[in-house]
Amino acid sequence: MNNTYVYIEPEKFLMDVLALLRSFYAKLDIKPVVPESRGDVKVEAEKAGYFFSVKVLDNGRALVSFKESSFEFVPVTSSPEDFTAYKKELCRKLYSVFKDDTGHDLPWGMMNGVRPTKPAFIAALAGRGKSESDEYYRSEYLVTDEKADMSWEIARSELNVLSGCEHRESVCAGDRRGYAGGYSVYIGIPFCPSRCLYCSFTAYPLAAFKDGGDEYVKSLIEEMKACSGIFHGTAPDSVYMGGGTPTALNASQLDRIISTAEDVFFTGPSIEFTVEAGRADSITEDKLKVLKKHGISRISVNPQTFNQKTLDLIGRKATAAETIESFKLARELGFDNINMDIILGLPGEGIDEVKHTCEVIEELKPDSLTVHSLALKRASFLGEWIEKNGHSAFTNTDEIQALARKCAASIGLEPYYLYRQKDMCGGFENIGYALPGKECLYNVVMMEEVQSILGFGAGTISKKVVPASDTDSDKAAGDMNLGELIRSGDALHMDISRCENFKEVGDYINRLPELIDRKNELFK
Ligand code: SF4
Repeated sequence: MNNTYVYIEPEKFLMDVLALLRSFYAKLDIKPVVPESRGDVKVEAEKAGYFFSVKVLDNGRALVSFKESSFEFVPVTSSPEDFTAYKKELCRKLYSVFKDDTGHDLPWGMMNGVRPTKPAFIAALAGRGKSESDEYYRSEYLVTDEKADMSWEIARSELNVLSGCEHRESVCAGDRRGYAGGYSVYIGIPFCPSRCLYCSFTAYPLAAFKDGGDEYVKSLIEEMKACSGIFHGTAPDSVYMGGGTPTALNASQLDRIISTAEDVFFTGPSIEFTVEAGRADSITEDKLKVLKKHGISRISVNPQTFNQKTLDLIGRKATAAETIESFKLARELGFDNINMDIILGLPGEGIDEVKHTCEVIEELKPDSLTVHSLALKRASFLGEWIEKNGHSAFTNTDEIQALARKCAASIGLEPYYLYRQKDMCGGFENIGYALPGKECLYNVVMMEEVQSILGFGAGTISKKVVPASDTDSDKAAGDMNLGELIRSGDALHMDISRCENFKEVGDYINRLPELIDRKNELFK
């Protein structure tokens, strides 16, 4: 298919301008060219001609050329030295150019981060009203009223979920944010039965490991034991075993990992413990019985779609019928908090296909439903598929989104957390819905970054989140408007530092002592 070239100079503007372009022109295969681009790419682009180019000069003026027209952008209040403010002004100008050209707005305006609900969360936490939050979304990022409303609703739900941790002693005197005094655990299992077309996670086909993952499990157990002292024997607020597909491991491996978590972190039936059972081709009765024996409180059985033709195309080996069977088996075995993930915007799927998926969901009545919008990741097999087939097979519209929302509401589920990824089909978002009381605390603490996370396994990230106890800054915060509060950098009064484990399974196993030292050092 034809490439659409865009030229951006200097390179520091690349990510933001590109995100804007790709959101407005999702059906084009946009290739960025920057001054440092290799000669052959530049030559090819110059031959084809640029769809769009922007060149920011040292004097702050920007030369923009778009399709057949060109103009000079003169910043009103910012200079290129104040990079953040200048970039925002430039993007706002480009937004209006692209909006005039396409005739539509972007649901999330100029927001392109992973955590778009954070401003509303900060506003709600600081006791500010909905109107101040809405105004911030509209004026700073040109977010639509619908998404500003949604952000507020989610922020209120998140605070409600977090209130479940208020029994904890807070780290700061006089601070009611008990959740900040706790921690959660993430256990990563980077294996899957096979790789899905759209996958961009750390996930390797288990069949490629001759030992069936035993060495990995051994290392994981060693890592957990070696980090047992970090929180001085206190139990976490939540544990999440994800991946990959944890149930790609066999029943005995799962048993050993969960037993270790119980011994090391004192998890028990009263602690939220999620295991992603993900794909039905990995779920067996003996594995579910192991999870049940350990009192796992929440599992996820993810169809993504109930249309067999799509499942075949995206390389999910389990059939729609097998997913239904696995779900029913889990119910029979007594799991009373089951999540299902679906994806909107899958290739070839339109309103009819999503309607069918929603009908099956409504019959099964999961306790929570996570509605994703497909992320068109160039680093996945999907990138190659798009190279060959183009973008025309992807449809994600307001109507499709409304169908999923209606489906969740019809079985009593309410939205409680939300996040975005890069290059999401239709510029939408991923939303977690749950029955009241069945929300996943881990999802909330991870998304709002309000609690430390101990990550174990290949590709996992540990985060140390420390609440500041500076009462002077509390006082100063009271005098700030929401924008100033957010820009002050300590709106949540949390200092966050992190360390990462190696993604490659071999590196993870061979260099485990180094990773253990790193984690213990981080939390010292
Ligand atoms: S099940 Fe999830 S993690 Fe595994 S290959 Fe598919 S998308 Fe990736």
